[in-house]
Amino acid sequence: MVVGGGTVGAWCAYFLRQAGLGRVVLIEKGHLGQGASSRAAGVVRMQGGTPEAVLLGLWSRQFYLRQRDEIGTDSGFTEQGYLLPCFTEADVAAARERMAMQAALGVPVRWLDPGEVDQVNPTLAPGQTLGGTFCAQDGYITPPRNVAAYTVALLRSGVEVLEHVAFRGLTRGGVETSQGRIDAGLVVLTGGPKLAEVGRLAGLRIPAGGVRHQVAVTERHPDLDPGRVPMVFDLAAGLYWRPEEGGLLFGMSNPDEPPGENREVDEDYLARMRARLAALVPVTAGLGLRRIWAATIDYTPDHLPIIGRAPGLDHVTVASAAGAGMMWGPGVARAAADVALTGKTDVLDVSPLGLDRFDEAGHSRLATDPIALPFPERISSS
Ligand SMILES: Cc1cc2nc3c(=O)[nH]c(=O)nc-3n(C[C@H](O)[C@H](O)[C@H](O)COP(=O)(O)OP(=O)(O)OC[C@H]3O[C@@H](n4cnc5c(N)ncnc54)[C@H](O)[C@@H]3O)c2cc1C
Repeated sequence: MVVGGGTVGAWCAYFLRQAGLGRVVLIEKGHLGQGASSRAAGVVRMQGGTPEAVLLGLWSRQFYLRQRDEIGTDSGFTEQGYLLPCFTEADVAAARERMAMQAALGVPVRWLDPGEVDQVNPTLAPGQTLGGTFCAQDGYITPPRNVAAYTVALLRSGVEVLEHVAFRGLTRGGVETSQGRIDAGLVVLTGGPKLAEVGRLAGLRIPAGGVRHQVAVTERHPDLDPGRVPMVFDLAAGLYWRPEEGGLLFGMSNPDEPPGENREVDEDYLARMRARLAALVPVTAGLGLRRIWAATIDYTPDHLPIIGRAPGLDHVTVASAAGAGMMWGPGVARAAADVALTGKTDVLDVSPLGLDRFDEAGHSRLATDPIALPFPERISSS
């Protein structure tokens, strides 16, 4: 039994069936993809800030590339190239150190001098950077297409998908749902921004939160042709962008945003996002917006995923992609399926990633992933 029909729960249910489990039931309180998974920006990056992040990015990208052969459709992975520019000497030192770690794990990342940065990205205001790291194999998926792809995979592989069925708690040998009890030998708990609540229903304390995150898409412009615009992450500002339908899709996290569910567009913050984007990509200053949305993104206090069996409950596995479900989701899902079935996985070493890394107050003993949006450090506003 898998709880939650987002990218983590759905791919996990699919991998459980692939592993030969006879009956796999997926319960989703609404409809498949209604959470963060259909609303994401789709960025898929192997340039992770920790070895765990890199390995999950590598695994997930490989999965996106083989989907068409495996399931007959795909999540729309587009290899676009991703530039992480440096603006200070401290950025340069950190980037070079990260690059060595990433390259050692097999990521084809390279250093670009300031002139090369301007060459690779002619829309960037020239002379702004001290160089940057670039990986030509990073890219993006189309999140609604990923929901369609996992829907196909679930149905084709014979997972029983129960929409509009909410998880209410664990019972002996099964789970309690809004539609009654269902037998289950193994239970995988997901929930994205709602994972803490799902955990509470299971009697678990899971330090995971949700916070508003905003994305917009500009009008088209010939300068923004996808052939000449790599994806870019301005890490210090928490601003990223990528090509989308002839314009730019850009997103930015507000570090002062209070934790909690929120899907209202914040016009003031949008204006700040636009100003930062225009400073770096001047052509966008004169462009209107074709789409704007705000949605609740999931996070964990150390911005690292949660993959592990629940303490004291060997038949229950918990999985969170910590706000990186497009770039890590399939890897997290596969690792969670393996852990649920056998207690281990060859995707990555999950031993540090369980719930036991958090203390009573939700503080992690792991160092925070340095390449992440500026998520809050607390998990609730109270
Ligand atoms: C605006 C935005 C932009 C993003 N951009 C990126 C990006 O560029 N790259 C990237 O890697 N990640 C990105 N993310 C993050 C990514 O979308 C998430 O990490 C990922 O979708 C989480 O997947 P999930 O399956 O854990 O959660 P979700 O997709 O939220 O799915 C959880 C599901 O559980 C269900 N559920 C909750 N409670 C219950 C219950 N009691 N019973 C049954 N079902 C329940 C929910 O209805 C939901 O459908 C973005 C997120 C947002 C919001």
